[in-house]
Amino acid sequence: SAMAEEVMELQNKQAASLWHPMTQQRAWNAKEARPPAPVVSSAGSRLQRMDGSTMLDMIAGLWCVNVGYGRREIADVAHAAMVELPYHAPTMGSPQQIELAAKIGELLGMEAQVYFSASGSEANEAAFKIARMYHALNRDDPAGALRYKIVSRQRAYHGNTAGAMAATGQAERKIGFGPQPPGYVKVPPPYPYRRNPKLTPEEHVDDVVRQLEDTIVYEGAETVAAFVMEPIISGGGVLVPTSSYLPKVRAVCDKYGVLLVLDEVVSGFGRTGAMFGHQHYGVKPDIITMAKGLTSGYMPLGATAVDAKIFRKFDGCDGVAVPPHLAHLRQINTYGGHPVACAVALKNIEIIENERLVDRAADVGDYFVKQLEEHLLPLPYVGEIRHKGLLVGVELVANKDTKEPLPETLSAKVPASCATDGIIVGRNGTTVPGLANVLIFAPPFVVEKPDCDLVVASLKNAILALP
Ligand code: PLP
Repeated sequence: SAMAEEVMELQNKQAASLWHPMTQQRAWNAKEARPPAPVVSSAGSRLQRMDGSTMLDMIAGLWCVNVGYGRREIADVAHAAMVELPYHAPTMGSPQQIELAAKIGELLGMEAQVYFSASGSEANEAAFKIARMYHALNRDDPAGALRYKIVSRQRAYHGNTAGAMAATGQAERKIGFGPQPPGYVKVPPPYPYRRNPKLTPEEHVDDVVRQLEDTIVYEGAETVAAFVMEPIISGGGVLVPTSSYLPKVRAVCDKYGVLLVLDEVVSGFGRTGAMFGHQHYGVKPDIITMAKGLTSGYMPLGATAVDAKIFRKFDGCDGVAVPPHLAHLRQINTYGGHPVACAVALKNIEIIENERLVDRAADVGDYFVKQLEEHLLPLPYVGEIRHKGLLVGVELVANKDTKEPLPETLSAKVPASCATDGIIVGRNGTTVPGLANVLIFAPPFVVEKPDCDLVVASLKNAILALP
C-alpha cells in the first residue's frame, strides 16, 4: 500500500540520517532489518506508530509523560503562549515564569528561589555550581572556597553533560568519553536486597551512611561542597531506601557543612506517590533539581530550586573568595525558563492537582505491584520487586538463593518479548555485568488497572519462556 511504502521510505531515511541514542544502529544495515516505524500519535498511555501498531508505554517516554499523552488543553496553552510571547531572555521575567517559580516553592513547602534551565542535566550542573559558589560566598566559613567536591552515589544517573556525567555512578555512561572532570567522589547507595546478609536492613543503612561520613572525612570535609542523590535511584535499577536513610544522610551533611542536593528529575511531580520523592522521608534538602514531570515532557524545562538560606548568601558583595563584581550567579541558558515551557508546566501542574494524579500514582502503583507480586514473584528468575508509587523495578536473577544477576542476554529477552505484545518495558544499564537485570516501569499516571493486568500477563509469558 501507499502507506506501507511511505513508512519504508522513512525507515530508510531514518537508518541513513538519524542517530538514535543508546542504539547500535549497525543492526539496521542488513537489507531485511529495519528501524522501527516512526511514532506519529498518542493518547493516554499509548503511542501509535506510522504502520498503525500501538504500544502501551510503561516507561512514559523517558519517565516523563506523567499526565499521559494527548492532553489538548496543554497544547492550547502552548499555542496561546507562543502567539503572545514566543521567547524572552532569561534575564527578564514573564508572568508564567514568575508564577511557576512561586508554584514550585509552594509545592516544595519551602521558601525557595528557582533557577530555570531546559533539561535535568542542566538543572544538576546549575545545582553543583550554586553549591560551590555558596561556599565561596559563605562568610560564616572563611575557607569555604576550598569546598568544590561533589559526592554522589554508585548506580546514580544525573545526566549527560560533563559535571552531571561525572556525578553519575554508571561506568557505561563514561567509557570512551575520556577523562572525567576532577572533584567527583562516589559512595555506595543502600541496596537492601544485595546487602551483606549478616546485617539487618537497618544495619545496612547505617553501614552505607557511615561510608558516606568516612568518605567526607577522608576527602577532607572542608573540600566537600555537596552530596547529590536521587531520593530513589531510578535508571540505576529502582533502589528504594529504607525510610531512615535520607534523615541519616541529612544529619551527616549538616555535621560537615555539606549541602544536600536532591535530584528529583524522575521522582518529582508525583511519580512516587508524593509530589516530591523526598516528601516521603521528612527531610529538608538545600537544593532540589527537577525536569521531566515538571512539564510531563510536553516542553523541555529544567529547574533548580534553592532554599532561601542558601540563596541569601548570594546577596553580598563582601564574599570571602569571590571578587565583589562576580558575587552573583553567573550562569545562563538561552532556553532556561522558556515562556512557552513555563506556561505548559503551570497547566501540567494544574492537571496533576485537579485530577489528583499523585494519589492515583500511589493507588495504581500499589495495584500494579500487588499483581506483580502475586503472579511474578513465584516464578523462577524473579528476585525482588521494588517500588514507590508508579516507580517500579523487577530485579531478575539467575539464582534466587545466590541472587546472581540474570545475564544481559537473558534479561534483554523480557522487554523484547513484551514489545511483541505491544508493551514498552524499560530496563536499566547496558554493558556492565550485573547492572542490566532490572526491569523498569514508570507509566503515565493515567494508566488503567486493566493495562497493568496486560503487562503482568505479558511479563509472565516472557519469563516462563526463558530457558
Ligand atoms: N537526573 C535523573 C535522575 C535522570 O533520570 C535524568 C534523565 O534521565 C537526568 C537527571 C537528566 O535529565 P535530562 O535528560 O533532561 O538532561
